Amino acid sequence: MTAYIPFARPEIDEDTIAAVSEVLRSGWITSGPQVQRFESELAAYFGGRPVRVFTHATAALEVAVRLASVGPGDEVIVPAMTFAASANVVALAGGRPVLVDVDLDSRNTDAARIEAAITPRTRAIMPVHFAGLPVDLEPVYALAARRGLRVIEDAAHAMGAAYRGRRIGAQGDLVAFSFHPNKNMTTIEGGALSFRDPGELERAERLRFHGIRKLPGGGMDVLEHAGKSNLSDVSAAIGIAQLARLERFNARRGALARRYLEKLGGVSGLRLPAAGHAGHAWHLFAPLVDFDALNTTRERFIQAMHARGIGVGVHYQALNLFEAFRRLGYRAGDFPNAETIGARTVTLPLHTQLRDEDVERVCEAVKASVRQAK
Ligand SMILES: *Cc1c(COP(=O)(O)O)cnc(C)c1O
Repeated sequence: MTAYIPFARPEIDEDTIAAVSEVLRSGWITSGPQVQRFESELAAYFGGRPVRVFTHATAALEVAVRLASVGPGDEVIVPAMTFAASANVVALAGGRPVLVDVDLDSRNTDAARIEAAITPRTRAIMPVHFAGLPVDLEPVYALAARRGLRVIEDAAHAMGAAYRGRRIGAQGDLVAFSFHPNKNMTTIEGGALSFRDPGELERAERLRFHGIRKLPGGGMDVLEHAGKSNLSDVSAAIGIAQLARLERFNARRGALARRYLEKLGGVSGLRLPAAGHAGHAWHLFAPLVDFDALNTTRERFIQAMHARGIGVGVHYQALNLFEAFRRLGYRAGDFPNAETIGARTVTLPLHTQLRDEDVERVCEAVKASVRQAK
């Protein structure tokens, strides 16, 4: 029996489990000393920028959208090729996610596409570093400065990625990360927000805890309505251990991605993702398969891979084709590249516990599944 290879798998070692046990025995399990330590280690990782952690990246993005004063009637520019959370947080704040198309190979959007979508109602731009490949940020920030817009980077895929030699999160305006188990490092569920403006920290802390301001003498006031998204110390302890291993995790991801690129180069019907960027965090390895040309469907391809014991993901379907976005007026045909990616993308296994021989097995299965299709 050959073992099943999932497309993602977190790596939790015994030291991490011991650290979690210690927190569980300590008597303090919700936000406390571990969260403070995790935040200061993240801040150090981001070159001294302030960081706050949350129960998930979606909450970090929700807080970022409020800090950017996005409300009813306001627009935020979001790529059509991303996870639904990027755009949902805008709609939840009463704003309109204004979708833009992306590049077929990088899966990222760019300043020209963003500029064409700016209106007098635009408040913010949300670039997404797809699969851990950084967006070309310099023209995006130049545009934002020119037009007076906030930038909320959805860096859920980009923990450890770098743009022009500087870490994503060590630069930029508001930068949100995810620590979901499928991401490059995990806290089970969790997320973080890195801030350019330390003056926004106090409000961010309120927004993750009921809008409360503590008063001297032990009292409190509620300054605004807010939800609750503070991370637990148990999760923070996992995050501290994961952060210490992140460089190693990402180096392994990069090596595996290079192996895939080498083994899958020239396979007909397959279009490999953009590579060669030194700061790529390789969160996903997702080629496009031309199912029409191969006279098959993604469903059949995925079934053929499963039959060989290999898990395959789909990241992602184009947002404009979803019912909630069609209700906003979006239609099929609006974003040709995002729709092509959405129809053809398959995410192959990429995680730190994948062995070199597992990559061989996946590549053989891909070639066989593609051949079988014809
Ligand atoms: C995973 C992900 C999120 C949401 O992260 P959570 O921590 O699960 O809330 C947001 N945006 C993108 C692009 C993601 O991949």
